Amino acid sequence: MNVPYSYLDEQFAQIDDYLQDVRRLVQSGDFTLGQAVMEFEERFAKLCGLPYAIGVGSGTDALILSLKILGIGPGDEVITTPNTFISTVGAIAMTGARPVFVDNNDEYTIDVNQIEKAITSKTKAILPVHLTGCPADMPRIMDTAKKHKLLVVEDAAQAILAKINGKHVGSWGKTACFSLHPLKNLNVWGDGGVIVTRSAELCRKLKLFRNHGMTTRDEIEMFSHNSRLDSLQAVIGNRLINEVEDITQKRIANARQYDEAFKDMKEYITIPQRYPSIQQVYHTYVLRVKNRDALLNHLIERGIKVKIHYPIPVHLQKAASYLGYKKGDFPVCEKDSQAIISLPVHQHLTAQQINYVIDCAREFYIKHDTRRTADNALYTRG
Ligand SMILES: *Cc1c(COP(=O)(O)O)cnc(C)c1O
Repeated sequence: MNVPYSYLDEQFAQIDDYLQDVRRLVQSGDFTLGQAVMEFEERFAKLCGLPYAIGVGSGTDALILSLKILGIGPGDEVITTPNTFISTVGAIAMTGARPVFVDNNDEYTIDVNQIEKAITSKTKAILPVHLTGCPADMPRIMDTAKKHKLLVVEDAAQAILAKINGKHVGSWGKTACFSLHPLKNLNVWGDGGVIVTRSAELCRKLKLFRNHGMTTRDEIEMFSHNSRLDSLQAVIGNRLINEVEDITQKRIANARQYDEAFKDMKEYITIPQRYPSIQQVYHTYVLRVKNRDALLNHLIERGIKVKIHYPIPVHLQKAASYLGYKKGDFPVCEKDSQAIISLPVHQHLTAQQINYVIDCAREFYIKHDTRRTADNALYTRG
């Protein structure tokens, strides 16, 4: 059996409906901003329970534009975690500010207890990442930010519809940044990103900032970027946004099936703590496992596409060498990078495929742990 990690083929199976919308757009000639983008922004904001959404060129641009519009630049420091997609840190660096790292907790998000010791007189902002689709501890991050007068921008690229006590990610920071990359939970067919905010003034400024700073065709308020959500992509987004609740519920159900199956294998597999008050949306389903590399090969040999998010922490990347960090600086993140594995969790998986992944993982540990042969019955599924 093959268990793919990506699922875009399935999405393209319904291509005719999408192409009809694309044809309509092409015939209207409404290629930049316009109706499709406005509609998408309205619907996206509503989806997040927030008043304003601004469509931009990518999730990375959403971060860069957010940080810059808040005045962050050369001489400033921004606190984030080295356990993230490279883009979070790249965005900070692209503003001219210096990324400062804080280790992650057992849920793969920033360890709030360690933020204060990273704060200096140059610190301007905290950039927490809702990695895997699990919200960072926003209430406590906001307390710390308030105490030290820091701005907060949320990297919610992996976390659309994630919630803490029913409150959506994006509700805490000055802005929150989403990605519509083809592999995100809500995607378009190329690059796209969204910034959400509660501030009408920030929304107004960001709408200028993504579009040459133009207030009218002939008047420029500020020099700035060209980073608009493409109208063609907004057309695709306007169709897929109808499905994002379903997509999310399927991912949650798939994750529960794995959690349930692995909960009696504590010796080999560590499932992150789940909290009833937190809705995780499982952009990735990440476990800490014993003998990771061998398990990875075992699953790949059996047709199961598994991944590692991420095998090299950002502080150990060549790009980060100028920051002066070294191995050992962030022990949790570094240890995780050797032990984590991402199982396929996407919305198009069948129950059989998930059972197959579970069976193959169980088989691996039974075969590799001779001490347990007597207990094999316990680990054989019906
Ligand atoms: C995908 C992602 C981004 C960047 O989004 P792009 O649209 O690819 O630029 C930023 N941060 C995180 C955590 C991501 O997963």
